[in-house]
Amino acid sequence: MIRIAVANQKGGVGKTTTAINLATALAATGWKVLLVDLDPQGNASTGLGVDHAHRERSSYELLRGDCALEEAVTTTRVPRLDLVPATVDLSGAEIELIDYQRRTHRLEEALDGAPPGRWDICLIDCPPSLGLLTVNALVASHSILVPLQAEFFALEGLSQLLKTVERVRSGFNRGLSILGVALTMYDRRNNLSSQVADDVRAVLGKVVFETVIPRNVRLSEAPSHGLPALIYDHRCPGSEAYMSLARELIGRLPKPAEAA
Ligand code: ADP
Ligand code: MG
Repeated sequence: MIRIAVANQKGGVGKTTTAINLATALAATGWKVLLVDLDPQGNASTGLGVDHAHRERSSYELLRGDCALEEAVTTTRVPRLDLVPATVDLSGAEIELIDYQRRTHRLEEALDGAPPGRWDICLIDCPPSLGLLTVNALVASHSILVPLQAEFFALEGLSQLLKTVERVRSGFNRGLSILGVALTMYDRRNNLSSQVADDVRAVLGKVVFETVIPRNVRLSEAPSHGLPALIYDHRCPGSEAYMSLARELIGRLPKPAEAA
């Protein structure tokens, strides 16, 4: 199972929107997908229509070792997409885990418990911080996908994130790579957006995905219906962009022979 952390310590940059819609796009392509909600706000869980009654076992219990991966997993309305939901309990985990053995490896060990062949790919929706939860996601992942909002100061904070990636790489997870940077909330009518996109590409180069996620009201409406945009309105520009991002992402993944 390929594991990808969707991370950026800035809030509101499109992590959750990207995690939900990319997961749905991959499922639509035929992949068996697991989405792990690792944000105490639980936006990915709400956005997928998983109500609180169905969050009895969540990423919190999983990290504590109180349940096995399969017990924490719930199905969603999207075929082939399963979810480990999050609850507010998770906000305590950042502190609680400090006293745990192998505190940075809790998620990795939990995901190692996935039955072979059950899922092809796992996306982890990270909280807006570089604390223990995000570190657990990075330790558990093969690569990181960074959503970057196409606005002024887009690159601000990125060096901190890259430092954390480097620290995880040298300390725990040598194989961790940067899968790509996705520009989000791009506004075609706004010169600033295209200028920011040019600047980001000049600085980061080919790591930036060619696909740009447009600012699209359908993407922000869909979660209130408990649906991914790709199901709420699969023809809106936002949905089309996430399908394109999924194709690009698949192209960047190691071929099965290399991954083995
Ligand atoms: P994060 O998980 O990084 O905090 P979200 O994905 O929750 O960010 O996005 C922040 C807010 O912006 C949400 O209200 C979301 O619906 C909205 N949003 C995200 N991406 C887009 C987009 N491309 N177009 C319009 N609204 C968006
Ligand atoms: Mg989020």
